[in-house]
Amino acid sequence: MTPPGAGLPRFTAAMVRGLRGPKSPPDPRRPIAVWDELETAAPGVGVATRVVLLAGAECPFPCAHCDLWRHTLDGPTPPGALPEQLRAALSLEAGPAGTPTWIKLYNASNFSDPRAVPPEDLPAIAALVRGFGRVVVETHPRLVDDGLARFAAALGGRLEVAMGLETADAGLLAWIGKGMSREDFAAACARLAAAGIDARAFVLVGLPGLDERASVAAALEATAFAVASGVRHVSLVPTRPGNGTLDRLGAEGLFRPVGAAAAEAVLERALGGDPGAIVTLDGWDWGRLEGHCDACRDPRLARITAMNLAQRVLAPVPRACACPAAGYD
Ligand code: SF4
Ligand SMILES: [Zn+2]
Repeated sequence: MTPPGAGLPRFTAAMVRGLRGPKSPPDPRRPIAVWDELETAAPGVGVATRVVLLAGAECPFPCAHCDLWRHTLDGPTPPGALPEQLRAALSLEAGPAGTPTWIKLYNASNFSDPRAVPPEDLPAIAALVRGFGRVVVETHPRLVDDGLARFAAALGGRLEVAMGLETADAGLLAWIGKGMSREDFAAACARLAAAGIDARAFVLVGLPGLDERASVAAALEATAFAVASGVRHVSLVPTRPGNGTLDRLGAEGLFRPVGAAAAEAVLERALGGDPGAIVTLDGWDWGRLEGHCDACRDPRLARITAMNLAQRVLAPVPRACACPAAGYD
């Protein structure tokens, strides 16, 4: 049997970067976006969480699926910029979910990269988020270091580090060009656990070279691998085109984003199998997926949101529209 990824053209880092479109460089003194949402602490227990998309330096890795470079700076993050952004983000009124007690600081890069987060800013950042019970940051598994433990010790609450596993398939992981293996991911989880830090995994729903059914299976396999590695939370992220490389593959018939029903199927199957960790489907780009319509789009997203919170499969949305259902065995 041909391994996944074997039939895909190889892209060097230079090729991935060469296929990118123009950036929209952000203002380093302002966060890119701030909003509040409910995070799932335990089945049925939601916690109001402030989400802060920080503006900063671009990630040095050239992952073939990633579009986070679009809103990053070409140079390093200027010292003082992140605390200034954070102060602005914390000054905003609470959303309908109530006063946020958790916070996500996502910088489209790696929190433990000194080019992205100047080390001299870490005490100020820690002081600004001291009142939060959980602080979630993101980084590459191979950049997990003792600096994260020191940052965790400076917090009032618990640190959680989100890392892109993307897939547990070794061939596709190599194709993505993330510069890590599944073993690197597992080792990073173990290192975080030893430091009393929680881990979260990002898992891609939709992979190049795979049809939708195989992408659903791959996402479930990656979810199981992440849980076995000890993550507290798996965030399922439908893979989106728009970064250049995936658009090229799409034009060659080698990549197609999964439809709405396939994304729902991954969440349903993960939750239906007692996953052993919190598993949620990221709804941020739900509107961009194919396979829903004006009649069913919002009710289906509401069901996903409810399942994310309840951590169990809920009854399908009754619908009269002709939008496809996944219909897998
Ligand atoms: S390590 Fe993360 S942020 Fe960096 S390119 Fe890969 S997916 Fe994007
Ligand atoms: Zn519909």
